[in-house]
Amino acid sequence: MSTKKNVAIIGSGNWGSAIARIVGDNVKKLPSYHDIVKIWVYEETLKDGRKLSEVINEEHENVKYLPGYKFPSNVVAVTDIVEASKDADILVFVMPHQFLERSLLPLKGKLKPGAFGVSLIKGFHIPPGGGIRLISCLINEILDITVHVLMGANLAPEVAEGKFCETTIGVRDINHMKSMKDLFQTDNFRVVVVDDADAVEVCGALKNIVGVGAGFVDGLGYGDNTKAAVIRLGLMEMIKFTEVFYPGAKLSTFFESCGVADLVTTCYGGRNRRVAEAVVKHGKSIATLEKEMLDGQRLQGPETAAEVNYMLKEKQMEARFPLFTAIHRICEQELPPSEMIDCIKVHPEHL
Ligand code: NAD
Ligand code: 13P
Repeated sequence: MSTKKNVAIIGSGNWGSAIARIVGDNVKKLPSYHDIVKIWVYEETLKDGRKLSEVINEEHENVKYLPGYKFPSNVVAVTDIVEASKDADILVFVMPHQFLERSLLPLKGKLKPGAFGVSLIKGFHIPPGGGIRLISCLINEILDITVHVLMGANLAPEVAEGKFCETTIGVRDINHMKSMKDLFQTDNFRVVVVDDADAVEVCGALKNIVGVGAGFVDGLGYGDNTKAAVIRLGLMEMIKFTEVFYPGAKLSTFFESCGVADLVTTCYGGRNRRVAEAVVKHGKSIATLEKEMLDGQRLQGPETAAEVNYMLKEKQMEARFPLFTAIHRICEQELPPSEMIDCIKVHPEHL
């Protein structure tokens, strides 16, 4: 029996497709891995009538979510999530967090013994009993596997282009450190592994809320100083939120790629920023603009703002997080974007 390991990628959007290019190339160079990497594709029919999975397998390109970049030919699209995952030793979870729970349910009890995962998914989950839960914990609960996290300043189109960047992997079992680094690192995608997985994941989720705020600032026509203030206050709220809800996290994690670097790139080049700017400029709803501007790609910031606000309200802590609260209320159309700055003029950081 072969002792070579199999890798499966669960999700094939913009980031899922970019990371599949890296993993597909890396496994070919690693003797302990099988060459074939299955990627789960949520099937859809393209405008020209073709099935997305068939196009991926014939043209080796995700023409909808990452057009212009070829997959290595060992990346194979599979539309049945159980078929894609059942032989995998390592599962890479990468899909919009709003679809995760229902997508994973068919996998319950179907994975190989000893399999483990890594989540690239940014957001939180609200369990039925209240509070919020990390996405990696949701995966662990459904599938009963260890789940590491990979988060960083990694806008997918730039990664696909091979432009230099860094990422952070937060491991939950140090025995997997080497395999995690081997699987993802390239000359231009440099990996730092840390043992502070909760904080890595919380950073990845929260920075998307600030990215929405940065878009409001841009749409309102404020300058770079204002945006820098929003980024700084956002970072302070990210740190405070982690201290309150995930005590024991290390401050140094906020200075890794998953922290300040991802925050900056999102606030300048991210989809959350771009759509939020358009909300102010065109006066349309986030949902409408997400459909008009992103062609099926999905924003994580507005939903994450709602998840965080649910927690802050439950704990009566909204006043301690005025930026997160204002961004959520603007997303819900309870406040006009023009009031965001008023809400942060009396930030606890200034008192
Ligand atoms: P995306 O925004 O491109 O979303 C589209 C994907 O959602 C497609 O694969 C589509 O098939 C899938 N989808 C649509 N409806 C679905 C359904 N009902 N069930 C299951 N899947 C469905 O996705 P992405 O960019 O790959 O993002 C995935 C995660 O990675 C997110 O948490 C995101 O925050 C994170 N991330 C994204 C980037 C980036 O630059 N795109 C970078 C780093 C991290
Ligand atoms: P957006 O979803 O705002 O594009 O952010 C992508 C990202 O997470 C970059 O690391």
